Amino acid sequence: MDNYRKQFYKKLHNSGVLSMQDFLRSLSFDELLEVDMNTGSLNQIHHIVGKYSTPLAVTNYEELYQCVLDNIVHPEDKAVYEQMMNPDHFFERLEKSDIRNFDCAIMRFKLQSGGYRYIEQIIIAGDDFDLAPGIFRVYIYDVHNFVSRNLDQIEGILDNQFSEYDEISGLFRLDAFARHGMALLKEKPDLKWVFTLLSIENFTFYHEWFGEEQTASLISKIGAIVKKYAEERKGSCCIDSTKSFLLLTTYDEEGTKKLFDEVRNLVVSLGFSSAFMPAIGLAYFEKGVTIADMLERLRIAVRKAESDIKNRIVTYDPLIRKQNQSDHIAISEYMSAFRNGEIQFFLQPQVNASNGKIVGAEALSRWVKPDGKMIGPGHFIPLLEKYGFIIDLDEYIWEEVCKYQRSLLDKGINPVPISLNVSRADIFSLDIYHVFTNLVKKYNLPTKYIKIEITESAYTETSELISVLVNNLRRAGFSVLMDDFGSGYSSLNMLSSLKVDVIKLDARFLELKGQSFKKGISILESVINMAKQIYLPIIVEGVERKEQLDFLMELGCRYIQGYYFYKPMPIDKFEELIKDENRVEHLEITAKLNEQFHIREFLDKNIYSDAMLNKILGPVAIYTLHDEHVDIIRFNEEFYHAVNVPDFNQKLENIDSLMPEDDGPKMIETLKDARRDRLNGASGIYRFARIDGTYSYFHIHFFYLGKSKHGDRFYGSAENIGDIMALAEQRKLVTKYGKINTIFVSQVYDRWVFSSAAYHLCELFGISNEQFEKELNDGTYANRFEHPENVLEGMDTFARIADKSGDIKKQFKVYDKDGNLRPVALTLYSATADSLNIKYLMLIDILE
Ligand code: C2E
Ligand code: CA
Ligand code: CA
Repeated sequence: MDNYRKQFYKKLHNSGVLSMQDFLRSLSFDELLEVDMNTGSLNQIHHIVGKYSTPLAVTNYEELYQCVLDNIVHPEDKAVYEQMMNPDHFFERLEKSDIRNFDCAIMRFKLQSGGYRYIEQIIIAGDDFDLAPGIFRVYIYDVHNFVSRNLDQIEGILDNQFSEYDEISGLFRLDAFARHGMALLKEKPDLKWVFTLLSIENFTFYHEWFGEEQTASLISKIGAIVKKYAEERKGSCCIDSTKSFLLLTTYDEEGTKKLFDEVRNLVVSLGFSSAFMPAIGLAYFEKGVTIADMLERLRIAVRKAESDIKNRIVTYDPLIRKQNQSDHIAISEYMSAFRNGEIQFFLQPQVNASNGKIVGAEALSRWVKPDGKMIGPGHFIPLLEKYGFIIDLDEYIWEEVCKYQRSLLDKGINPVPISLNVSRADIFSLDIYHVFTNLVKKYNLPTKYIKIEITESAYTETSELISVLVNNLRRAGFSVLMDDFGSGYSSLNMLSSLKVDVIKLDARFLELKGQSFKKGISILESVINMAKQIYLPIIVEGVERKEQLDFLMELGCRYIQGYYFYKPMPIDKFEELIKDENRVEHLEITAKLNEQFHIREFLDKNIYSDAMLNKILGPVAIYTLHDEHVDIIRFNEEFYHAVNVPDFNQKLENIDSLMPEDDGPKMIETLKDARRDRLNGASGIYRFARIDGTYSYFHIHFFYLGKSKHGDRFYGSAENIGDIMALAEQRKLVTKYGKINTIFVSQVYDRWVFSSAAYHLCELFGISNEQFEKELNDGTYANRFEHPENVLEGMDTFARIADKSGDIKKQFKVYDKDGNLRPVALTLYSATADSLNIKYLMLIDILE
């Protein structure tokens, strides 16, 4: 095996095609270490956190060598490692190597997550490789998939490295294509030739997420489509090193569209929509233009196609190149403004229209030039998005807003939550969950002061990724808003499975005027009804005029962000506003039924069918309060099923006395509160006894309707919160229970995420629960154990065993805060709390 590799490197080295350094750099290595044997010092140039087991606290090469040999190299590969890396006579051995000052070997390295992986280790030294005397470099490549393939194939693959064909797709490589292409052009100079470049957007992410095998399968499928297309048009095609497909064919406009559709359908059929969309660039062949120039043109065209969601096929035009140049100028101007602090955020208040009070604000970026001139985000954000700089802007604004909220708290001002915009590119490039949780930690900010806006179009793309993200963010306490709802293709179904906190509608999308007025209204009405069905609050943006406001209020929308109330303003002006507590409402934004509107429907059976009405309203009933007792005089079918009352037609008298403990008096108090606050009503959580003696939990919101001969009448809409209560109870029980500590384990893709309620254990360690949770998630907790290496390997192994044979138990020793070893017992249970994403519960019992 190693021999094959060595032969390959030798061929490469002698061929002079590519220098060895360039070759090594061009492959993606996991680790790169430089060692100076003159001093023994180590310089880690590149390192992947969390992949391989890493030596702890080594200071020189000898220690490193010993530590890797003892702890990281697979026992069966130790001899290989020793032979290659042993510090004795190191350079003399290298000098005599097959390729002078070069050596390579394949062996297995231990992973932090447990198990081993095949790596290839390459060392280079000496001035052959531009290194000073006594210095050598170690590259580590992950060759696991490669090695685990049938070894017999390897020779074939190696030959392939020098063949004209790409191993996976079977298409030409670029240089072979160039030769064949030139021949074609010479042979038939009178045909209308066109070069086509087809690329898959975000392809590197595809590789990262789905791995080698799936990537290869996608490439070979696209390759087959491309090949057929080129052959049908008497042309040629190839795949380049970035996995883009390049074609030379006769011109065929319809055909190009078909090619695009075919590849898009393939990507969609694999379950992805626009995240991995193809983009096509075209350039006509011109005599006298080199292939390299043609390629440059194609790249310019494809980049333009990638930056546009709708026009995915772009033909090169010298104007685009000009456009690119002016973009570059604009970008560099922007970047220097960014560095000069000219990019700021303004705040636009969000208002509860029923009382005009501010309930929140959105941070919107502005470029404020030194002369005071202001440029809106519409002028620079599209450009930043196109070139990927939007990520830097967003991270900057997020941090500035957190800083600002902190500064308000420090001044004793009660902040309102501020919405932050998250772009699509952020979702692909950042670990958003950690960015936000780290920010609030850094500024010691309760999460309720930050809301996160994600535009609707992002949801339709990678819904899997986003729903994990949204769940995690919400679990961490952030509200998540879906921005620009209705601009894309969201449906009610998606909303109910996505579980965002608020949706934002833009009144401007609806163009409430002229011909389309009716259409706009019916869209608005159906969206609002949709949202109400699942109790999802709405913020309407872009409200400028009184008529718009009145109309929206009539439909039951209460939260408005628009010029009618406030324009985006500088932060100091905003601060002045919210200093005045009378202008501010510190309540969570919630969906509320427009009382009169719905009661009318509820009471008038002719408007909707009963079934539909019940679905819309959920369990509702009319309550009366008289002589300190509560009756239910009417209820709907949903209520009947939810509460499980004995008889559908029966009037329920004195329900307060049927409720356990003091839930009855509590409900009476709530009803009185609702009577005092007619607009907002009042709510509480109540238990109803079931026939089997257990309780069901309801959250009921009451509104006062007026007096009747039976007493005061109330409308109450109930929500069954049994599931939530049961979970909360479980959690409380486990944590309250003696010395038992609980760690909740969930899996997000291939990562374990821990949340902990391990107060007793933390007491033992002398740290806070929060600190412990942090250690759990970054792996440093292992150092608190007697054998950290066993612990780090643990989680995957545990999970495997637990999945196979159920709950498992294990004993460990940990160091307490005084450095003494203390025995603990760990039990891992498989859990199935879907709503919380939890896969396992770890209970830790302190034994002494
Ligand atoms: P958006 O997130 O939908 O923000 C609302 C936009 O509507 C803002 O435009 C706001 O000024 C405008 N608006 C609100 N009420 C009215 C009204 O009554 N009439 C009119 N004509 N406009 C109103 P703005 O500030 O120009 O921002 C435009 C878009 O740029 C935003 O749309 C958002 O998508 C993006 N954006 C702004 N700042 C940032 C940022 O820091 N990061 C990211 N990723 N995007 C941002
Ligand atoms: Ca927004
Ligand atoms: Ca919006």
